[in-house]
Amino acid sequence: VHDYGIKFWSNNEFKIEKGLVKVCHGKNPALLEIVQSVREKGYRGPLLMRFPHLVQKQIKSLFDAFSLAIKEYQYGGAFKAVFPLKVNQMPSFVLPLVEGAKGLDYGLEAGSKSELIIAMSYTNPTTPITVNGFKDKEMIELGFIAKSMKHEITLTIEGLNELKTIIAVAKQNDFLACPKIGIRIRLHSTGTGIWAKSGGINSKFGLSSTEVLEAMRLLEENDLLEHFHMIHFHIGSQISDISPLKKALREAGNLYAELRKMGAKNLKSVNIGGGLAVEYTQHKHHQDKNYTLEEFSADVVFLLKEIVKNKQEIEPDIFIESGRYISANHAVLVAPVLELFSHEYNEKSLKIKENNNPPLIDEMLDLLANINEKNAIEYLHDSFDHTESLFTLFDLGYIDLIDRSNTEVLAHLIVKKAVQLLCFKDHNDILRIQEQVQERYLLNCSFFQSLPDYWGLKQNFPVMPLNKLDEKPTRSASLWDITCDSDGEIAFDSTKPLFLHDIDVDEEEYFLAFFLVGAYQEVLGMKHNLFTHPTEFSVIFDEKGDYEVEDICEAQTILDVLDDLDYDTKEIERILKQKIEDNNALDMEEKKEIMGRLYVMLSENGYLRTIS
Ligand code: PLP
Repeated sequence: VHDYGIKFWSNNEFKIEKGLVKVCHGKNPALLEIVQSVREKGYRGPLLMRFPHLVQKQIKSLFDAFSLAIKEYQYGGAFKAVFPLKVNQMPSFVLPLVEGAKGLDYGLEAGSKSELIIAMSYTNPTTPITVNGFKDKEMIELGFIAKSMKHEITLTIEGLNELKTIIAVAKQNDFLACPKIGIRIRLHSTGTGIWAKSGGINSKFGLSSTEVLEAMRLLEENDLLEHFHMIHFHIGSQISDISPLKKALREAGNLYAELRKMGAKNLKSVNIGGGLAVEYTQHKHHQDKNYTLEEFSADVVFLLKEIVKNKQEIEPDIFIESGRYISANHAVLVAPVLELFSHEYNEKSLKIKENNNPPLIDEMLDLLANINEKNAIEYLHDSFDHTESLFTLFDLGYIDLIDRSNTEVLAHLIVKKAVQLLCFKDHNDILRIQEQVQERYLLNCSFFQSLPDYWGLKQNFPVMPLNKLDEKPTRSASLWDITCDSDGEIAFDSTKPLFLHDIDVDEEEYFLAFFLVGAYQEVLGMKHNLFTHPTEFSVIFDEKGDYEVEDICEAQTILDVLDDLDYDTKEIERILKQKIEDNNALDMEEKKEIMGRLYVMLSENGYLRTIS
């Protein structure tokens, strides 16, 4: 009936069957069934489900695509990759990734000391570690220590000062092994879109050609040129258009060849950074990328081959640092719907007076009783006019609060009825009307915590209900989270409309799932209003296709959150207890009861549990 664009974004990893969204793996369990099995264990609030099999799938598809291109073009270099830890550092993501990458030239990329410690602890032996980002002497020493543990590590310098520090550390510590050295080059070319700032001549990162020449001189002068083995660039995340990448490859390929000619004989790798895009769209005309993985890998291999052939140099190993492509699809956020804001506007709430009903209220009652498919738009317009007039009458003191409440209820009932009557019609007015009369769905989650890129960059994530997918959704929806912040809203957008079902949450549960949230969202999320990470778990399939829910990590308790902020939680408990003790209006039993309830709350997470 309405497929929420699943064919555009799901890459056949999820499907709709019998009204439910299901995982296309094992025995195809419905997401709703998985969610209910976890909720039965007592977990409430938002849930983040991980599907590690999808991480394996992405890694395999990346290596398969590049192997194929290398074979097809008889390319002499190898393909290697690293996962950039900044995209997702969670152990329940990283550890299965490392496990699944065994046997492949697939390592980790670190951008800080803490990330480097993760990489040094968990990277498979002989697989690469690359280190990007700004580095002080200590971080460079950490790189030397990693090399001395026999890690295949490359320190990529972002500026000449870092190279000078490497030279100093090498001189001062002759017992430590010197890591491989990479140089991040500042290209002319940039990517496109909201994440394009990482490349280009004004980028925050990388060495200009003049600085690269100076780096070569310094390396040679200090006998370190043999360690220089990689050049690196990154034109931005989520590359939507393949042409800037091609341009960047031409630039980088020529630089590589020139540097080899100048004597960098161990320079054998070109690291093309990340940026391989993910398709997030739910709507045909808003696609996020204009290429496939196969086109991407073929272009990279073909272009590098062509450039070095012309310059008669050897074909470099190709490194890639894709983060989004590897991790986005493995995580799905499920948020329970707590309330539909217009739910209270039902016929039972009308308090029609026997006498003295304002005539406009009578007219609205009439509109509600007689609205049909033919007159719906006209009646809807009349109802908008009457509502305006009645509100003005209230402001002027001519009608009372009961009349005003009746106005609100009737206006909503007429809208609901009109939408129901017209939603199956292809009417020009209907989208406009739907924009005016959206339903607001209150979700038990925090967008600041779980979808920060929506809040900060208006990045859309595919969203759909877990069930009722065989029923036409009739309500144009805007989504509200439970933070006390008006930015915690995903507004209805008529260019990319979201429709949901008209349900009564007192009668039945209704959950919304946000897909492709496995890249960046968890690590960028913030505890606005002190809502913590959602309850997380992994869904693991066995050979028979059955699944188990593993590694449940509940959202933090209230006391843990306060402890993270460095509050003295023992003191908080003492103060609260004292305040109850000091209330002489309560007897011993009552004090005990209140204390008991308070302690239960402190040890639960802060998301909403019940609402009525
Ligand atoms: N490498 C570098 C240097 C980056 O800055 C980034 C992200 O911005 C990545 C890799 C990962 O990019 P993506 O997640 O788009 O693949």
